[in-house]
This record gives sequence, structure tokens and C-alpha cells, in this order.
Amino acid sequence: MKTLLVTGGAGFIGGNFVLDVLARGGCRVVNLDKLTYAGNPDTLATLEGRTDHVFVHGDIGDAALVRRLLEQHRPDAIVNFAAESHVDRSIDGPAAFVQTNVVGTLALLECARDYWRALPAERQAGFRFLHVSTDEVYGSLGPTGKFTETTAYAPNSPYSASKAASDHLVRAFHHTYGLPTLTTNCSNNYGPYQFPEKLIPLTIQKALAGEPLPVYGDGRNVRDWLYVGDHCAAILRVLEAGRVGETYNVGGDAERENIQVVKTICALLDERRPLAGGRRHESLITYVKDRPGHDRRYAIDASKLQRELGWRPTQSFESGIARTVDWYLAHQAWVRRVLDGSYRMERLGAA
Ligand code: NAD
Repeated sequence: MKTLLVTGGAGFIGGNFVLDVLARGGCRVVNLDKLTYAGNPDTLATLEGRTDHVFVHGDIGDAALVRRLLEQHRPDAIVNFAAESHVDRSIDGPAAFVQTNVVGTLALLECARDYWRALPAERQAGFRFLHVSTDEVYGSLGPTGKFTETTAYAPNSPYSASKAASDHLVRAFHHTYGLPTLTTNCSNNYGPYQFPEKLIPLTIQKALAGEPLPVYGDGRNVRDWLYVGDHCAAILRVLEAGRVGETYNVGGDAERENIQVVKTICALLDERRPLAGGRRHESLITYVKDRPGHDRRYAIDASKLQRELGWRPTQSFESGIARTVDWYLAHQAWVRRVLDGSYRMERLGAA
């Protein structure tokens, strides 16, 4: 039975990862999460009472806590999802992004290095520190080309700059101290349990409420979309078989303009929840002032991961988005507790 220390495992991708790993079996998860606005214990509700999941409310930047957890639980790997992750919030307040994504990751790396150094040789060889990162570190693409693992970093938002800094620290900890690190740089994720401030869940919720669907600028910014379950499978694959010190790009080969994404959701909801009077959901689309510094296009070349580790996405964009719309329709209680704030109030009350 392997033990994983997962950070940020009450968030969108980390939560999906913890649920997937525990469903597969053979692993114990210690889940360290600060429970910022993006951390949602409701996502982990089905794990209550299980002995293979230990939830710890805390900060990756709290070195004393992290050292204590490492000593107590003796993990075989650390998977670092913990981050401030929303670009718009990074524009309004970059400091929190530097604090968690850079300073917090550094603290976690120092704790990991010291713990790893003190492990017996046979466990040292198998230990891994996997850092989950984004394709946004590469900046913006023109109409052609894709990001590869050797594309120069050119982050454009405070979010991506802070993630780029954390990637560099991870790289440096491998090269300087020999820490067995792995880094994954993934494209935009979507799927169950995503906080409804991000494009896809926001669009679904607003469409269900019959409210205007905001689309930035001309709506023609392109993202390469990946279903979250496929991202989690890629992370597991890299953890099991990735070459130490390497980075792996993860992407779904599913480039779509934002406006296409919104129109696809509208069409799915026209079938599943028609608006009154035969009105089409598309009529709710409203173009709004563009985000400052909005990157035009991201596209990922994931061929290294496919070639070396045999990973492939299982969902096309069409199947993944249909699943996602259906998940949100079936889990309106989860969304409502996020929107009315009760997921936080109960937790703060309990703290
Ligand atoms: P999220 O915002 O949904 O979740 C982040 C989680 O980290 C939350 O549970 C939050 O409470 C926790 N957290 C924040 N600060 C913390 C701290 N100091 N200590 C401990 N926990 C803390 O983010 P997400 O979308 O799930 O992204 C997870 C990771 O994947 C991030 O590192 C992000 O950069 C990366 N990523 C995200 C995407 C995407 O499309 N969402 C794509 C590629 C990479």
C-alpha cells in the first residue's frame, strides 16, 4: 500500500485525483489543503469514514506542519496541486499567487528534500515529487504551432508567472539537490467539481438560470481542453513511470475557441433543459470587455507523454463536455452550496 501526500486535494483537479486514486485502490492519501475559497470539502464527502484518506486542513507554506506530516505518514510520493489558480483573481491580487504558488511551493520542496534525504536507500530510490503545472507558463501562440516541453517560458499573467516560478524551483531542486521531481504542464481542464467561476461551469450555471452568458472580447481565444479524468490518469501514469527530472506536457488535442465552447454547452442544454418559449440558450450570449493581457491561443503537443508512457485521453471534447453538462445537471446541490457560500460557512463554523 503506497502513501501519497496530495496537496490541494479539495480543489477541482486535486479532488478528482484523490477520488480516482482511492477508487482504483492500493493507495492511501494524506490530503493537505488550506481550504481557500476554491477548496471544497463537499467534493470529498463520499470519502467520509474511510481509513485510506486523511484530510489535513493546512498550508503548504507551513513548513513545521509539512515536516510533521512527512514524519508521521512517511509518504512514497508528494503530488502538488495546491495553488491559487484563477487568472482573473491574479490580476486583481497577485500577492496571494506569489505567496502560495512560489513561496509555498518552495517551502514544500525544502521539506520534501530533507525528508527524501533521510529516507533509507531503498525508499529514496522510489520517492517522487510530482508538481502539477499549466501550459500557461509558455505564453501565447499565434494561429499555428503547439507548445512542446522545450518551448521557452513566457508567462503573461501574474498566475502564469507564479506557476512558471514554481516550475523553475522544482527544476532547480532536481538539478541542485537531486530531488526526484516530475513536472506536468497541462492544458485547460473541465469536468465535475470545477468551481463555477471558470468558463465551462459558469456558462452551464448561468444558462440554467437564464442569465446572460459572458464571453470575453470577440470570443475567439483558443484553449486546448482536456477532461479532468484524463488529466488525473496522465498524472498517475507520470508518477508511476515518468523519467525523474523530466517535464511532460498533457493535452487533449481539442482546441476550441471560447465561443465554440459556449455554443456547444448551449446546444446540449437546448436538448436537456429547453428555455421557455422555444428560446435558444445561444441568445443569452453577451460579449464583455476582454481580460487585460488575454492570451490568444494555447495548444499542447502531448506526444512525449503518448510516446514514452502510452497515455491517451479517453474523452473527445464532445463526449467530455456532454458528461460534464450531465454531471452539473445531476449535482445542482453541490453547485448551490458553492454559490450560496454554505460550503464555506459550515467549515468556518466547525474550525
Ligand atoms: P483549484 O483552485 O480548484 O484548487 C486549488 C486547491 O489548492 C484548493 O483546494 C485550495 O484550497 C488549495 N490551496 C490553495 N492554496 C493552498 C495552500 N497555500 N496550501 C494548501 N492548499 C492550498 O485549482 P485546480 O484547477 O484544481 O488546479 C490544481 C493545480 O493544477 C494548480 O496547480 C493549477 O495551476 C494546475 N492546473 C490547472 C488547470 C485547470 O485548467 N484548472 C490546468 C493545468 C494545471
